[in-house]
Amino acid sequence: MFDPIEATKEKMVLACKVLQKQRVLDGYGHLTARLPDGRILSTPHMPPGKVALRDLIIIDKEGNKLEGLGEPNGETAMHTSIYKARSDVQCILHYHPDELVAVAAAGAGIKVIANCGVPFYRGTPIYDSPVLIRSHQLGDKVAATLGDRNAVLLRGHGGTVVSNDLDTLLRLGLDLVRSARIQIMAAPLGALKTHSQEECEQMIKGHDRPNANRRYIDYYISEVVD
Ligand SMILES: [Zn+2]
Repeated sequence: MFDPIEATKEKMVLACKVLQKQRVLDGYGHLTARLPDGRILSTPHMPPGKVALRDLIIIDKEGNKLEGLGEPNGETAMHTSIYKARSDVQCILHYHPDELVAVAAAGAGIKVIANCGVPFYRGTPIYDSPVLIRSHQLGDKVAATLGDRNAVLLRGHGGTVVSNDLDTLLRLGLDLVRSARIQIMAAPLGALKTHSQEECEQMIKGHDRPNANRRYIDYYISEVVD
């Protein structure tokens, strides 16, 4: 019988493997997903790219551990604050790619100069502090900076991406880093031409069609399974 919690666990482990293979994770970072009963599935306090099914833990809305052997991550408050502020958010990725740290340091966020940046056309606000998010108070500040967007950059630290499903989260997590990388590559070339708002909105409509992520996700999954 289909078990939604087991299915979410399997998707989360696969997403971790893809993010590891694509080298956007290091020893830190974490993924969480809201479960149908309101509890939160989370990678534990270990390198997320090395997580197996048995390692996943379940925490409550305040970040206290309910199930599993591992311990919650030090920055769990960032996740719980965002879930409280955003009923539409079902999963969250927090990571520390060099590309996001570089773009955040320049102070302008992601410029939409490539199609992979289109999902971020409404802006990628910058949380202006390098201090790790280890309290509910700081978690609430990150959630406020994120607002109704799907990504927030954290100066000197990394980024956090949110979505309503794990496939889209994986895509956004990869596309945010790729967008930052292209921006860094293009920066020395001079003035950059960005997508117009109208172009972005037209392309976003195309992203909304059913199974729009399938081919994208299947490609990356094929890189991590035999
Ligand atoms: Zn962090």
